[in-house]
Amino acid sequence: MKKYVYSFINGKAEGSATMNKLLGGKGANLAEMTNLSIPVPPGFTISTDVCTYYMKHNKFPKGLKKQVEEAIQKLEKYMNKQFGGSNNPLLFSVRSGARQSMPGMMETVLNIGLTNKTTSALIQQTNNPKFAYDSLRRLIMMYADVVIEKSNYKKNKPTGIRLDLEKILGQVKQQYNCKNDSDLTQEALIEICDLFNQTIKQKFNIEFPNNALTQLWGAIEAVFKSWNGKRAIEYRNIENIPHTWGTAVNIQCMVFGNMGKNSATGVAFTRNPSTGENKFFGEWLPNAQGEDVVAGIRTPQPILNNSKKDLKYQMPLVYKELYKVQNKLEKHYKEMQDLEFTIENQKLWILQTRKGKRNGIATIKIALDMYQEKLQSQSEIINKIEPEHINEILLPTINETTIKNLQPIGMGLPAGPGCATGQVVFSPEEAEIQYNKGKKIILIREETSPEDVQGMFVSNAILTSRGGMTSHAALVARGWGKCCIVGCNELIIDNNKNQAIINKQIIKTGDWITLDGSKGLIYKDQLPLIKPALKKNKVFNHLLNILQKKRVLLVRTNADQPKDAQTALDMGAAGIGLCRTEHMFFDKNRIKIMRQVILAPNTKKRRESIMQLLPHQKTDFYKLLKTMDSKPVTIRLLDPPLHEFLPTQKKQIKELALELSISIQKLESIIDNLHELNPMLGHRGCRLGITFPEITEMQTRAICEAAIKLLHKGFKPQPEIMIPLVGSIGEFINQKKIIKKTINNIKTEHKIRHLNIKIGTMIELPRACFIADQIAQHADFISFGTNDLTQTTFGFSRDDIGSFLPNYLNQNILDNDPFQHLDEAGVGELIKIAIKRAQSTNQKIKIGVCGEHGGDPKSIRFLATVGVDYVSCSPYRVPIASLTLSKMMQ
Ligand code: PEP
Ligand code: MG
Repeated sequence: MKKYVYSFINGKAEGSATMNKLLGGKGANLAEMTNLSIPVPPGFTISTDVCTYYMKHNKFPKGLKKQVEEAIQKLEKYMNKQFGGSNNPLLFSVRSGARQSMPGMMETVLNIGLTNKTTSALIQQTNNPKFAYDSLRRLIMMYADVVIEKSNYKKNKPTGIRLDLEKILGQVKQQYNCKNDSDLTQEALIEICDLFNQTIKQKFNIEFPNNALTQLWGAIEAVFKSWNGKRAIEYRNIENIPHTWGTAVNIQCMVFGNMGKNSATGVAFTRNPSTGENKFFGEWLPNAQGEDVVAGIRTPQPILNNSKKDLKYQMPLVYKELYKVQNKLEKHYKEMQDLEFTIENQKLWILQTRKGKRNGIATIKIALDMYQEKLQSQSEIINKIEPEHINEILLPTINETTIKNLQPIGMGLPAGPGCATGQVVFSPEEAEIQYNKGKKIILIREETSPEDVQGMFVSNAILTSRGGMTSHAALVARGWGKCCIVGCNELIIDNNKNQAIINKQIIKTGDWITLDGSKGLIYKDQLPLIKPALKKNKVFNHLLNILQKKRVLLVRTNADQPKDAQTALDMGAAGIGLCRTEHMFFDKNRIKIMRQVILAPNTKKRRESIMQLLPHQKTDFYKLLKTMDSKPVTIRLLDPPLHEFLPTQKKQIKELALELSISIQKLESIIDNLHELNPMLGHRGCRLGITFPEITEMQTRAICEAAIKLLHKGFKPQPEIMIPLVGSIGEFINQKKIIKKTINNIKTEHKIRHLNIKIGTMIELPRACFIADQIAQHADFISFGTNDLTQTTFGFSRDDIGSFLPNYLNQNILDNDPFQHLDEAGVGELIKIAIKRAQSTNQKIKIGVCGEHGGDPKSIRFLATVGVDYVSCSPYRVPIASLTLSKMMQ
């Protein structure tokens, strides 16, 4: 006969923690605790096999009844009580327990076994009629709801019996002038039980069963059926729990927390689940059953909080025992535990233990503490920490309690991390004006362009109605670790009225809003935020230390400002993998010079103008190289199309025409000429340096002179020059020649022999992948610009994907946004080809990745297997990339 029932009784259990599949999480842990001599109310578990059998055949398997009866007899003997008996009655709790915790998704029935006969016996035995009737009214309500109603209505069409009964409870409470349930008198409780029974009879035309065994089987069946309840199915769909697993049913002798002031119930964590602090933490309620804590009818009291209401103070002996138990459990499971307990007349019972849920900050603290306490190995703790946990440490967050009852007014793509609050402006100019007045700003735009950078920089957060996860706004914001939501289609901006409408809500200039950039949620008003203090965060710095030593490949950062570079360094960056120099041209004074460069009538004038930028660029590179000192800094030559530097608004065009002493029409016609239908595929990347070699020359000179200055001061700068968007070998050779020549000139001028600057290129075009063998013959390094490589491989514009991506995802045409997670089948394959070919002609070639995918855990896991030497990502992604790579070492 197959075994379906597993007892746990008197320090001996037939199951153990390893039998999670068969006994469910709760059952397996009850068995384990019994074997550990922890006071667990004795009982038995009916295995998940019975549930799967029941689901298939709609009846119980043969032999179950006998096994259950035998288990009951064992309990009766041990407890010296009788189930359904007229003296010393035994009562049961019947609870679900799946393999994976599904909190609150399935059913529970308590006090099973209370009949007319046993209620009288319980009164005699306890001399506490109030308690007996309180238990009975609880049983009738739960039974009516779970067994009679829910399990008998196939589609879970509720007829509302619980509400009906609760109404009766409320009415009687009023009638007897009682504030709390526990104030109800014996008389009132008897009346409630009678009214409950009458209502059940009226509603279902059946009697509440006055027989203990009938109640038990009804409850067992109802719990099994609740596996296929609507809530449970939905939860499994979200959590990806297979519907075939089934639940176990745990039947235990009832222990009562509602037996008077010497009884109680509570929930405890072995450590603080919000802070991770290694301090016993929990709440308890005197004279109550577990459901009272969950229902939140009464406010629970702390277990340990230096107050007179503490369990430690109120029941010191029980507290002492509970403290010992929690210690034992945590040491045994080597994991923070979440326990439920009941105290019956000063006797402690543990009803459940399981791995405690905790937030990201607590996860990291607990993991590191447990490593130091030698409870867990380094590999174990790294496996437990996830990128989301690190994200939580890095960013300000909205205080959870303030948004409990608050609905967001809109939603977009979660492009830049963290939360921010500020007053709305609709233009980058206005952002600067308001910022200078000391205001906190949120910039709302349809989309952003490099011209908006200054305004974006001063804003606390950016919200756009268009664009995808690698749109300009998303990329820039993420680089700065700035909160940003893009592609919020519900957002309609009216620039004339300086207002926007989102889901019928009007937002005007100056209105406060709050963004959760990690979730893509937009809230009205200024919500309170909690800020992180990273440098002081010992836990975080300890984690960074471990990660730095363990990762399989190096992590560099994408940074163009010393401040960002320093942030990345603090978080363990091994260098800069991408310095986008275009951001350096948008400063007010420099953009003027840049415009002169673009509009110069001849080469001589152009050269003159461009050389005006030299001192600025030199300072930029000096500061950046100094910050990174002996670490490599890959500086990319100018990449964006030139028209991005020209004004678009009439007022600015007029001003510029005046400055340049040309007519507005003339300027407009030049701008028109520069305008490209397809700028992403236009005059950008190395094409700029080829048509305007002065740009390449000036930038190379600035890099070299900055490096020389640092060398003289005893630093060890390691600049690397990267040529963007190369598609043919001729392009690379052309630019390399200019760079080499400039370096040689500078060496002669400065009488320096050793100025070792590596020259390489970005691989951003499919063609570059195929000719990587040719490129590698001339290049010291290559770095995959996976943003453009994704764009050019799919032929999807990275700025416009937002308009069709949702459809693609809904229709399962794409599994995910390829700009977020690297497309392994297409782009990934090209990367593999390029690496193979590059290494075939240059075994020493350094290979990096500096597109946004370099900070995405899923993409990193792929990239680390194809032979790259480093990934480069925005500063705040560095620890996340390190974590991902450390996990791969396990
Ligand atoms: C890329 O294309 O992946 C890249 C890093 O360059 P950018 O995003 O600046 O075009
Ligand atoms: Mg690119």
